[in-house]
Amino acid sequence: SIRDTTILNNGVHMPWFGLGVYKAKAGKEVENAVHHAIELGYRSIDTAALYENEASVGQAVRSSGLKREEIFLTTKVWNTDQGFENTLRAFETSRKKLNVDYVDLYLIHWPGRDKFKDTWRALEKLYREKYIRAIGVSNFDVHHLQTLAEDAEFTPAVNQVEYHPRLTQKAVHQYCKEQKIQLEAWGPLMRGRILDHPLLVELAAKYGKTPAQIVLRWDLDTEVVTIPKSVHRDRLEENANVFDFTLSQADIERIRDLNQDERTGFDPNEFLF
Ligand code: NAD
Repeated sequence: SIRDTTILNNGVHMPWFGLGVYKAKAGKEVENAVHHAIELGYRSIDTAALYENEASVGQAVRSSGLKREEIFLTTKVWNTDQGFENTLRAFETSRKKLNVDYVDLYLIHWPGRDKFKDTWRALEKLYREKYIRAIGVSNFDVHHLQTLAEDAEFTPAVNQVEYHPRLTQKAVHQYCKEQKIQLEAWGPLMRGRILDHPLLVELAAKYGKTPAQIVLRWDLDTEVVTIPKSVHRDRLEENANVFDFTLSQADIERIRDLNQDERTGFDPNEFLF
């Protein structure tokens, strides 16, 4: 079911599938999207301080009538808030906006240059104090993860990176698997730019699915958590309807072969701050 979870390296259950709300407007747009998603069975929502819609996400979750423990909430510390004290403050701001006692997953949004170790110490403190159920990172390459590990008490539970058929992240995926760090895909639909690819159209016909569903199923079949974004009920429903089929190993490989190391977002090694 849509509620199936992966078990993170600290034992916390995280849904394989969720809703991303980047660029969804605070207020009615986000609230309606979250309400629709929850009605359709979504139980995980990915926001960030950067998205400026945490308060709307929190409001929508509360008014949905779900119990707090029935929903998995992710948010992230933004680049300008990195550092130990800043991160503690930024977390408290996010937590208050979400209006929750705890956050399920808190991520360092981008590695940047040299503050992520101090930032991580703040996440570890908040984790120990049980304000966060799992701590992780985003946009970390192998070398960032190795640097982080030098002084870390806890291994990140999750690494959320751009991941789609044009960017399969082979090295990061392999390393995360070895280290028991759950890989999570952002931009899983390549922000809508890959859905007319002939292979995806062909596989959509073969499986009786849509190209978006083929790509999202491929995330799950490659053991990657996925959080496609939409604010439209029909697409939210379409995107979630990927739990009644699986791709053959050969088709998984064919999609993987579309890789061109092509990004829609920043290269973490060039996005320095
Ligand atoms: P996405 O790949 O999820 O693409 C979303 C876009 O694809 C939509 O705006 C819409 O135009 C289109 N779309 C959605 N469903 C469709 C369907 N069924 N058919 C056709 N088109 C469809 O891109 P995203 O929003 O950038 O990524 C998903 C989530 O990942 C974000 O909302 C955010 O939560 C997270 N994210 C994180 C980072 C990071 O740095 N950690 C960066 C970007 C996004």
